[in-house]
Amino acid sequence: MNFDLDAIYIEDACRDTALARRVMARAASVAPVSFVADGRLAARPPAGVADTFAAGKRRMVIMRRRSPFLMACPAGSAKFACCGYLVLTLASNCPMDCSYCFLQEYLADNPGFQVYANYDDAFAEIDRLSASAPARHFRIGTGELADSLAMDSLTGLSIELVNFFAARENLTLEFKTKTDEVENLLTIDPRGGVLVSWTLSPRRVFEACEHRTASPSARIAAARLVLDAGYRVAFHLDPMMAYPGAERDYIELMDQLFSTIPPAKISFVSMGGLRMTAGLRAAARRRFPKDAMLLGEDVLAEDGRFRTIAPLRIRLYKILADKFRNAGAEIPSYLCMENSSVHERVFGAPAPHPALAGERLATR
Ligand code: SF4
Repeated sequence: MNFDLDAIYIEDACRDTALARRVMARAASVAPVSFVADGRLAARPPAGVADTFAAGKRRMVIMRRRSPFLMACPAGSAKFACCGYLVLTLASNCPMDCSYCFLQEYLADNPGFQVYANYDDAFAEIDRLSASAPARHFRIGTGELADSLAMDSLTGLSIELVNFFAARENLTLEFKTKTDEVENLLTIDPRGGVLVSWTLSPRRVFEACEHRTASPSARIAAARLVLDAGYRVAFHLDPMMAYPGAERDYIELMDQLFSTIPPAKISFVSMGGLRMTAGLRAAARRRFPKDAMLLGEDVLAEDGRFRTIAPLRIRLYKILADKFRNAGAEIPSYLCMENSSVHERVFGAPAPHPALAGERLATR
């Protein structure tokens, strides 16, 4: 997959970094490069642009990250049955444009596509965390504020990451993506330390909502390639859309997945329903007024998000949980941003403690 950019900006202070050198070497066929004192200012699209968020996706900035790289997953809280995931922010924004994407609200005041050149600082943070709890196994992902692989042919970051994690036994790196950009991954041996996960949706959701992403078939084919190259693979059904015919479509999607990836080789599957703050819902409906998937039956939940009504989403979760149980091999599954009573209704057992859940998922 190739994504168009309008401009690439490189902060003066990052000009001699490995990331900037790789980008400059490959940028000729992508977009013009300019150097700027402060990338945060350069990323902002010019005044008068109608959709600044969309324009910001096409303006890449190679810059220093000024705040910590590691944080607990923002989805985790005392309210939810959490999976103990840690987020590593190496980039912020994404060249794809899903109608439900929370970045439309989260980055509304900060458009631009930032990629951080000082990732050696991120590696030092991870080493400090790991040294602080040597008996624990951490699962750390780069796919929260950005797609992990979307610009990898330009940045080459995946190679540095895989080499770092492959050398550390108590860490698992999770790349999360909706692309089929796996060429760099196929050139290196992850030595068991790297998991690649794909968000999967039925074709109808892909066509309605997931603009500029790889098709579900292309994502599954890419998963098979990395599995054969020694990576672990996992899948996220998130957000699940409860439209008429959704049950049949999600079951067919799982049949397609299992025909390419043997269930015993799937590290885990997560599930989550469509959930949107009022701000995100307004931004998404304004930017994608024709997307009927955004107009399903929802209610304002206790956490301040509009969610697909409980009977619809729990029914979908249960059908899929049965599918995983009867797949011929155990496929661990968990719910993202659901409370433990929903977890219990779907799986018939209380959710495990986040640290335990995280450890189990990290070592699958
Ligand atoms: S691929 Fe992920 S980060 Fe990119 S627009 Fe879609 S939901 Fe957002």
